[in-house]
Amino acid sequence: MYELQGVSKRFGSTQALHPLTLRLPTGRTTVLLGPSGCGKSTLLRLLNGLLSPDTGRVLFDGQPLPRDTEALLPVRHRVGYALQGGGLFPHLTGEENVTLMARHLRWPAARTRERLGALVELTRFPVEALGRYPAQLSGGQRQRVALMRALMLDPAVLLLDEPLGALDPLVRHELQGDLRAIFARLRKTVVLVTHDLAEAGFLGDDIVLMRDGRVVQQGGLSELEAQPADPFVTRFIQAQRPMPGGGAAA
Ligand code: ADP
Ligand code: MG
Repeated sequence: MYELQGVSKRFGSTQALHPLTLRLPTGRTTVLLGPSGCGKSTLLRLLNGLLSPDTGRVLFDGQPLPRDTEALLPVRHRVGYALQGGGLFPHLTGEENVTLMARHLRWPAARTRERLGALVELTRFPVEALGRYPAQLSGGQRQRVALMRALMLDPAVLLLDEPLGALDPLVRHELQGDLRAIFARLRKTVVLVTHDLAEAGFLGDDIVLMRDGRVVQQGGLSELEAQPADPFVTRFIQAQRPMPGGGAAA
């Protein structure tokens, strides 16, 4: 679905991504994993054209992503994106946030209503909370709204930046289970960012482990464990092992 060829990105003196080459397969969930600041969000924003690469190119369905906003629009409609922290508009209700793009595209009201109903069911969002503003929703509900908004146009690709980042452990656990079921049901191409190894293993078919703007290894969790490409892989995995006595590290 995506192919990155020699893609790099710099912000001022920070080399956020060194030239990297990567394929993200269609219909699978790829998790971008790595410590804070390693370039996960930058990579995700290159995938939907919010950022343009300094070098190299991003191919989407075999075609280079266009650079100008106008030409990018049809691609954007095929790519659902939920940014880090949810990124909901605080002055719009949950429903207004979800249906924003459909209204922009002048969907007939009946079609919008039908899609909203399907999404509420899919994400197990309480219908009666649709009229609430983000500040009146719980953290988990806000994430479900962000997910519904990303899915509204039934995109081919779903990009999720730390969708479970700021949630307490119980809500996080519940949403992890829901997300996995949703990915299995939709069979879309999903690219999800996390810094949590267990979450990456639970949700991802494939993990892309990153460090300091480089891809250290791509593969399944068991592959990373059994055949680490670099000592960093093992260190990263061991740092997130449960501690003896039942506590959790990191
Ligand atoms: P991650 O999502 O893995 O935490 P990011 O992709 O957000 O990392 O950031 C990678 C690096 O690029 C960090 O050093 C960050 O400070 C820097 N960076 C990201 N976006 C910008 C920006 N818009 N301006 C300047 N520096 C940025
Ligand atoms: Mg980030």
